[in-house]
Amino acid sequence: MKRTEELIEKNKKYLWNPFTQMKQYLEDSPIVIERGEGIKLIDVEGNEYYDGVSSIWLNVHGHNVKELNEAIQTQLSKIAHSTLLGMASVPALELAEKLVEITPNGLNKVFYSDCGATAVEIAIKMAFQYWQNQGIKEKTRFVTMKNAYHGDTVGAMGVGAIPLFHEIYSPLLFESFKVPYPYPYRFNGTSEECAQTCLHNLEQLLKERHHEIAALIVEPLVQGAAGMIMMPDGFLKQVSNLCKQYNILLIADEVAVGFGRTGKMFACDHEAVTPDILTAGKGLTGGYLPLAVTVTTDEIYNAFYADYEELKALFHGHSYCGNQLGCAVALENIKLFEQRNLVNKVEKTSKYVETLLNKFNALRFVGDIRQLGLMVGIELVKDKATKEPFSFNEKIGLRVTKRVRKLGMIIRPLGNTIVFMPPLASTEADLKEMIGILYEAIQNVTEQHR
Ligand code: PMP
Repeated sequence: MKRTEELIEKNKKYLWNPFTQMKQYLEDSPIVIERGEGIKLIDVEGNEYYDGVSSIWLNVHGHNVKELNEAIQTQLSKIAHSTLLGMASVPALELAEKLVEITPNGLNKVFYSDCGATAVEIAIKMAFQYWQNQGIKEKTRFVTMKNAYHGDTVGAMGVGAIPLFHEIYSPLLFESFKVPYPYPYRFNGTSEECAQTCLHNLEQLLKERHHEIAALIVEPLVQGAAGMIMMPDGFLKQVSNLCKQYNILLIADEVAVGFGRTGKMFACDHEAVTPDILTAGKGLTGGYLPLAVTVTTDEIYNAFYADYEELKALFHGHSYCGNQLGCAVALENIKLFEQRNLVNKVEKTSKYVETLLNKFNALRFVGDIRQLGLMVGIELVKDKATKEPFSFNEKIGLRVTKRVRKLGMIIRPLGNTIVFMPPLASTEADLKEMIGILYEAIQNVTEQHR
């Protein structure tokens, strides 16, 4: 169609897409989205696609939701934005109060930013300066987990550990300690043994180096970008206990897992963990506008609370911190969560998803199916018996993704792991359709391989 061709031409000429090899992308007939309706995306030609990764893990109630649209319009008729530097705004205050109510007990202060990576940058600076402000100068280092992902800014990459994304930038990055994240599928032993080995590694490090460590950062329960790797039960609680025991701050990065994704409002709620700092973004605005938060305790806040001349303020802020439109839609999003009892619904629909996914075990390339709430990773392997991975050049994830698109759904793989993250409001009927597409696509690609 002429219009699509014209738009793709503009893409070629003017747009550099994020996390995208432009050569491959432009060779592959890109989709240009024009509208959204419920859990579907609609392109300029009118083709409909299920939004099978919630527009990169953020959509909650679907697209074009009347209540969310109205919340933005109402706020827009008052003001779109004013700064939080040295002053406040009504929606920023109301949302901060609400966030303190719904985040784990003990998290009482909200610092705004505009994406997950900036929320992590703030967490890193807060944790670092917390010790400096108290005169404890040697606690300057961070612990992260192997294959961790916390965003793409340079500080956040300092606690990132996915070789494909981070290695090339390593000369630019501060060096963190890296401990293993439990990955039972690729561990030679039981899930419990895997957890114990990782905890032992962590404890050894903390025992030896705690005096120089400011904080540990972790993706609670699910390591997202690494390929939906899931912690065995109780692991997070034990990490939290070790941090307390060795006097190290715990930063829980809930950017991917927060806001109902795992079947609880926050992943930390599964194990009654209160971190010292929690970061969240993505689902905070229901997937509408870029807003993120770094939430912390009174204890950390108080280490910065001092006379002006002491220079203990947190020297950090972005132009759009606490944007009013973003805060207004986030408030409405949380209201809808409550009115629609959405977190409990996710707990129920995720059980249904589990029953539908059982069938995938029979497929030749399906090595491991990992699921928590509405977060699913299906790891494809060349040989189930040996767990031999597909090589990068075989592009197995991409091939499944392309087939899924032909069948009417958008997903995005993580290497050889197929990610399925439907909007939280998806009904059982929607989920059945979407998982049907996924099954057919994996089956088709498997058949091509025979
Ligand atoms: N932390 C985690 C755990 C994430 O999964 C992501 C994004 N996928 C980020 C941080 C970065 O968020 P953003 O893309 O909004 O910067």
